[in-house]
Amino acid sequence: MTGPSHARAGAETDTVDVAIIGGGVLGTAVAARLSTTTASVCLLEAESDVAEGASKGNAGVAVSYYGPPGTLETQLITASTPRWEELTARLSVPYRRLGAVMVALDDEQAHHLEETREEILACGVRAELLTSAQTCAQEPLVTDRCVAGLLMPDEGVIDPMALTVAYANLAASNGVSVRLASPVTAIRTDDDGRHLITTAQGTVRCRFIVNAAGVAAGRISRMAGGEDMRYWPRKGQYAVLDRAFAGSLRRIVFSTHSATTKGINVVPTTHGSALLGPTANDHEEPDDKATDADTVAMLVASASGLVPSITDDLIIKYFAANRPASDEPHRLRFDERIPTLLHCTNRSAGVSISPAAADHVLELLNSAGLDAQPRRDAAQALPPAPRLRDYDDPSELIAADPQYGQVVCACEHVSAAEINRALAAPVPASSVDGVRKRTGATYGRCQGSLCSAGISFLTALHTNTGPATVKQTARGTVGS
Ligand SMILES: Cc1cc2nc3c(=O)[nH]c(=O)nc-3n(C[C@H](O)[C@H](O)[C@H](O)COP(=O)(O)OP(=O)(O)OC[C@H]3O[C@@H](n4cnc5c(N)ncnc54)[C@H](O)[C@@H]3O)c2cc1C
Repeated sequence: MTGPSHARAGAETDTVDVAIIGGGVLGTAVAARLSTTTASVCLLEAESDVAEGASKGNAGVAVSYYGPPGTLETQLITASTPRWEELTARLSVPYRRLGAVMVALDDEQAHHLEETREEILACGVRAELLTSAQTCAQEPLVTDRCVAGLLMPDEGVIDPMALTVAYANLAASNGVSVRLASPVTAIRTDDDGRHLITTAQGTVRCRFIVNAAGVAAGRISRMAGGEDMRYWPRKGQYAVLDRAFAGSLRRIVFSTHSATTKGINVVPTTHGSALLGPTANDHEEPDDKATDADTVAMLVASASGLVPSITDDLIIKYFAANRPASDEPHRLRFDERIPTLLHCTNRSAGVSISPAAADHVLELLNSAGLDAQPRRDAAQALPPAPRLRDYDDPSELIAADPQYGQVVCACEHVSAAEINRALAAPVPASSVDGVRKRTGATYGRCQGSLCSAGISFLTALHTNTGPATVKQTARGTVGS
């Protein structure tokens, strides 16, 4: 790979202080944070929507603990953990602090729970050892084969796609230029030492680059003349359980971590369904998100070892996503060769670190000379965004806006008001999948069989297209 070449900025070039490459949860969190300062910022995303990489297909566990104390990743998790209620209320993002039980099925695992507890306490987080009976009292669906448990009361679940979209909407509301369908194809340096970033939609000139390109971060680094870093996809498969069963889960149920794996877990979602997974398999193709029957059978077998009432007839969907794996699983630091290139990637806990990671990026940029000061007129919150499914009695909501009475997705109780809001947001949905990511529509038992036509129709009205040409996903079209 060659280093950066030099060029003069053209007249059509946009100039900003900071260009963020990648519209996943980390890139958008950084964009939202910087948007409340005096820095000028643009966000460049290859796909035609945000939340299309790892941030689209994860479990959304806002973990309070992921590894030993003393690492920057652990510090960022610990700093983020107490902030979720305030942050998600401000950004109108679904969040539930359910707490978790980690379940030991034999004496060896029980011994491991004691070590895990010590590590969690050393991170400054709460954890409590439980007897078998206490574990089953915390989560009555847990197997009576359980010999011990560990209560982790600070764990929560968040809607990771809604969080990513909300970060992007706050950033855009505060003036960040969010450029979708703008894959970065080259990075050069001009005579003033500024980066010149070539995208499919023009050129951006900037002083600092935040490299939040996930599994493509190594490629971006090499384009900019930075370190030769290797990233590869680590696939995780999930099975989704219907809300009819999942609604009775009280807590996240973790299997006992071992030295090599965090195992298969049972994770309630903010929508009321539950996820079984994830697996972890390294491979080479970032677009490979295929699931397979053998893995799904393994997920059900493992999960039913924790919660025996789980059976495969409760499954409504499978999916997979790829973690951005690397020899440095958490990279939040300046490049060793290019002092204005800041790497911001995380393999397995990017959602959980995102609030504190964004603050940390701002501190690093300021210490490198950005001088981004707080902006008094910047919005810190998004307008309230009520969801029909959160109301036992929605009559007041419907009286205020009759579109809440028009239910488009019956399985997930999503109304026309929510879909139209997603289609008119600062970073709007532009496909059926974009509406799903923002509202949960199509996510339920019928998987969109009944509501896709209605969503396509509303999307067509907002995007000035015909329903037959509305895109199904950020990349494809209906029927493709
Ligand atoms: C199966 C699975 C389960 C997980 N579970 C959890 C969990 O429970 N809790 C948790 O905290 N974390 C979890 N994670 C990890 C979490 O999903 C990631 O750490 C996080 O999503 C990484 O976010 P990101 O923004 O760095 O990357 P991504 O979301 O991958 O975003 C990178 C973006 O960069 C864009 N891009 C790439 N190349 C270019 C280019 N040339 N130009 C412009 N844009 C480009 C991509 O299109 C993409 O949108 C899980 C991950 C997986 C896969």
